[in-house]
Amino acid sequence: MNPVQSTSSLTVAKFGGTSVADFQAMLRCANIVKSDASNRLVVVSASAGVTNYLVRLSQQNVSVEEQRAIIENIRSIQVNITQHLTAVVETSLNQEIDNLLDALTQQALTQSLQYSTKTTDAILAFGEQLSSRIFAQVLQSIDVSGEYFNVQQVMKTNSLHGKAVVDIKQLSEQCTLLLAPKLKEKVLVTQGFIGQDNKGQTTTLGRGGSDYSAALLAEALKGDNLSIWTDVVGIFTTDPRITDQARAIKEISFGEAAEMATFGAKILHPATLIPAMRCNIPVFVGSSKEPEQGGTQIKKKVDSNPTYRSIALRREQTLVTVKSPAMLHASGFLAKVFTLLAKHELSVDLITTSEISVALTFDNPSGSTQSLITNTVVAELEQLCEVSVEHGLSLVAVIGNGLTLAKGVGQSIFETINDINVRLICHGASDNNLCFLVDESDANLVVEKLHNTLFN
Ligand code: ADP
Ligand code: ASP
Ligand code: MG
Repeated sequence: MNPVQSTSSLTVAKFGGTSVADFQAMLRCANIVKSDASNRLVVVSASAGVTNYLVRLSQQNVSVEEQRAIIENIRSIQVNITQHLTAVVETSLNQEIDNLLDALTQQALTQSLQYSTKTTDAILAFGEQLSSRIFAQVLQSIDVSGEYFNVQQVMKTNSLHGKAVVDIKQLSEQCTLLLAPKLKEKVLVTQGFIGQDNKGQTTTLGRGGSDYSAALLAEALKGDNLSIWTDVVGIFTTDPRITDQARAIKEISFGEAAEMATFGAKILHPATLIPAMRCNIPVFVGSSKEPEQGGTQIKKKVDSNPTYRSIALRREQTLVTVKSPAMLHASGFLAKVFTLLAKHELSVDLITTSEISVALTFDNPSGSTQSLITNTVVAELEQLCEVSVEHGLSLVAVIGNGLTLAKGVGQSIFETINDINVRLICHGASDNNLCFLVDESDANLVVEKLHNTLFN
């Protein structure tokens, strides 16, 4: 087995769900790790599809038959990978998989007896626990000294299940103590997405959170680089699934990429760039299927700052309009609305106001483990004012530089989509984005048309 080659440089390499979906995908990633001696900490997501199964398993209305079927589906995803390893490794890994799935069955039972967000997180964590154990062995199969590391020893969080906040100071201390010394000898393989609170309970950082975990670990270890390996050859001018006109961006600034992530470009979890920016760690985004294609470099300063950089789309938005004639010339109404929303841990994205009404948007994705607008919230708001709630909307964000200063921005955008019903527009608060809501059914067309006008 190759010992870790001596290099002073440290890269944290994160592989997403499709990159660890099956044996061939894992093998490609293992070879990426092997190709660069600075890749010493590997952060993996759950194999593609597993977290979605676990989300379903954690819900309240799952029958025992469905529970069994889900667990068997997860087992088959994982054993389809282990069967490609040597018989000895396969047997011992399958034993570990069985043990983990027995523990998962217990958690599912607990959840069906008494639902809690604590058990939800315990259930969701199994995906990464499984894939990281398997990936360490795939590394070993190509002679890289890969070893499993339980991230919960270092990723300490508060107890806000589904959206836990990481204790950066503890993470840094524990990494220095427990992780850094081991990295000198081994390539460690650890889990994205999950953490542990101070009572020892499992927590999660929100869907897609493995990118953020990797960035936090890179920061805590004072890493030199963060590589996010995914299923596309970098960050594109818009989601390449929406239009084949989208093109990969070679270099992008932290600020621009952070805006994209915030406004829904799924390529990066919204918080990923916060640690990278704090420590000025350059981030690379590339495809584990085609590593030779290169990718996108995200860094502090880039050569060009174009007016239009990209278009992001965030689906499943909820628009809540609160209306109260008492708001006219009165003070304190908005404070009451926001106090109520804060009580329910709901975060508002966009706001527009008129004399007697306020429109607010919320991210309300299905399959989320975060707080969502519920009937209870609406009922409590109705104690204060008239409330209307609309679902089925998408948020389109045009991201760039100097958008409030450049002439003709609004005209270029809204002339292009003058046949579309635009629900709410936010422009002016930020120089780097202009965003608006459209009907979900118009969203792809809007992005396609805008991309055509602004980028071709
Ligand atoms: P992973 O499982 O590796 O974390 P994700 O599915 O979370 O991967 O993110 C990758 C996906 O993000 C791509 O397949 C692509 O469809 C989507 N995406 C959205 N916006 C962009 C963009 N601007 N550039 C590239 N990919 C994007
Ligand atoms: N497995 C988790 C999810 O699917 C975290 C991640 O992939 O980043 O949301
Ligand atoms: Mg992702």
